Amino acid sequence: MKNRDWYTSLVSGLLFPLQERFKDHSTVSVRKALEMSQWWKRERLEDLQLLKLRHLLVEAEAHVPYYRRIFAEIGFKAAEVSSLADLARLPLLDKPAIRANTEALKSQKARSLRSFNTGGSSGEPLTFYIGKERVSHDVAAKWRATRWWDVDIGDPEMVVWGSPIELGAQDRLRVLRDRLLRTRLFPAFEMSEQKLDRFLGELRAAPPRMFFGYPSALSHIARHAQARGQRMDDLGIKVAFVTSERLYDEQRQQISKTFGCPVANGYGGRDAGFIAHECPEGGMHITAEDIIVEIVDRQGIPLPCGEAGEIVATHLSTGEFPFIRYRTGDIGILDDGICRCGRGLPLLREIQGRSTDFVVAQDGTVMHGLALIYILRELPQISHFKIIQESLNLIHIWVVSGAKLDREITAKIEEEFKARLGQSVEVLIEETTEIPAEKSGKFRYVISKIAAA
Ligand SMILES: [Zn+2]
Repeated sequence: MKNRDWYTSLVSGLLFPLQERFKDHSTVSVRKALEMSQWWKRERLEDLQLLKLRHLLVEAEAHVPYYRRIFAEIGFKAAEVSSLADLARLPLLDKPAIRANTEALKSQKARSLRSFNTGGSSGEPLTFYIGKERVSHDVAAKWRATRWWDVDIGDPEMVVWGSPIELGAQDRLRVLRDRLLRTRLFPAFEMSEQKLDRFLGELRAAPPRMFFGYPSALSHIARHAQARGQRMDDLGIKVAFVTSERLYDEQRQQISKTFGCPVANGYGGRDAGFIAHECPEGGMHITAEDIIVEIVDRQGIPLPCGEAGEIVATHLSTGEFPFIRYRTGDIGILDDGICRCGRGLPLLREIQGRSTDFVVAQDGTVMHGLALIYILRELPQISHFKIIQESLNLIHIWVVSGAKLDREITAKIEEEFKARLGQSVEVLIEETTEIPAEKSGKFRYVISKIAAA
């Protein structure tokens, strides 16, 4: 690859591989294999999936108490699996099932499990376990997708993130590691005007080659730069990787325009794995070597390509703590087209919404969060806002405005929210100077309005 400086080559070719070997991860060899198989034809990828699926299920039947019991109950014999369609005979795995069976989901052969917690889209915490095989595969898949964009591990990176796991790990080893890998962190939840101004100065003094962060946070920074009249498209930033939230077109345009670089969307999580990533041709490629994606209807029955349904993921490298038919709560569509880039990896056409994109009215109507967002977007007095549906009966709104909102406006907001959600919903409006962070470290809804509006 061109434009790679010697230090990046050193990190990508030596330091990072050494670190991974030290951790007993097979990341480097996995990534090299993935870089070959991404060009395979779909049939060959499916053959690989079937082989790995059968292996995972045989191991689960033999060593994972939860699956041994389930397979026996439904008369499922893992060794007889002969097609990917057999997967649909197994029950879905959701968060309550993991919570209720955490111990029984551990393989009796597991040696390297580490526990993880997520806030989860429902806000309820989930504890699960990840083994080294899985870590290697997830890191390798992310690494491969990074390299699609002509950047590599070791290139200067600015991470705009807020997960307490990341932020809490400021031990010396971590700091040293980040310095070696040339990764810097800007906390996504501390974005006061003052901090943003300082951050823009930092970007100019030492520009990264790539961004990584929440789309809402990166577009917020971009809008701030634009509002300050500061040019950022001449810093040589190659790409902005975004993940963890839905990416709206408006955010993509803002980030791309301000920083003068393409935006690469990634979809996945610590729980489900590195499910899909966008290539420079715009295709959302599924990590098919490691993850089987099904789109299912409300009854859990797989839907054909082109139909929208819930995304269900089976992670094929989770022998030590299987994720088989895991419900993500997200909505998507499978695409049987071929991407212009020529990779055989199948495509996830559209992430129509994360479950956090939806709100539920008191009468049970599920509606897109935009229904509420539009109400606030139309008000010129409000510059930023955040909406959290705490329960069917309580909606919490934080607003940042230039001047104190008068009674007329707050009454109007309340009226419009009630019209959509139900008349007895309590609408709590809090005026603030800074949008508060959530304990879970994940936004439910942080929407900033275009500064130019
Ligand atoms: Zn592609």
